Amino acid sequence: MKLNIDRGDDSQAYEIQLRHPTLLQAFIEIRENIDPSLGFDYACKSGVCGACAVRVNGEELLACQYDARSGDSIEPLRNFDIIKDLIVDKNLSTELIKKAKISIDNHSSVTLDAGDETKTIEQSNCILCCSCYSACPALDEKEDFLGPFVLTRVLRYANDNRAEASKTMMDTIQKNGIWDCVLCSACTDVCPQYIDSKEDIVQLIKKSLSLGYVDPRA
Ligand code: SF4
Ligand code: SF4
Repeated sequence: MKLNIDRGDDSQAYEIQLRHPTLLQAFIEIRENIDPSLGFDYACKSGVCGACAVRVNGEELLACQYDARSGDSIEPLRNFDIIKDLIVDKNLSTELIKKAKISIDNHSSVTLDAGDETKTIEQSNCILCCSCYSACPALDEKEDFLGPFVLTRVLRYANDNRAEASKTMMDTIQKNGIWDCVLCSACTDVCPQYIDSKEDIVQLIKKSLSLGYVDPRA
């Protein structure tokens, strides 16, 4: 099987002898037996940590969950600084989450019932793989856009009775937030956790309008 891997200035082709490897197994084979200099990230090998997200033939996915095919072209995630080859600087995700001013009182006396937990369960499944941020076309137009996984996280906390300062969060997402989304669903399409970030943003837009915020584009 032949894989083409984007390594910055040029694409490098690797011939691999493994039968039916996952893409991550192919990367490991390359590094151990063909080219020790290949840079890629991984940790759990089982779709839990999100570290091995890359783009394959233009689509974001987890390398550990994808069966490699001969001729595949692999690139690093978009919209992040590249550290080396397929490794990107995901510290940006922490910075973006901080910008959204999300906070929760872990010692809150508010108790949650099963209904409360249902309201946040989907969004809580985010593994911060950052695939959605890479796929988002709104970032091509506006690099300060908070992006899909941050807004999904905002909805998760906006729906949590223990969240502090939800007004602060709702204020924060008015600029570089919900109104910059073009509602294209590209984020939803690539999420390995089946989180619907586009729908989460729609919910935040409805919540904002009900709280008296106005669409600045109107
Ligand atoms: S729906 Fe919005 S957040 Fe999701 S990819 Fe499209 S523009 Fe980006
Ligand atoms: S919302 Fe989905 S695609 Fe985006 S970071 Fe979380 S798990 Fe990854």
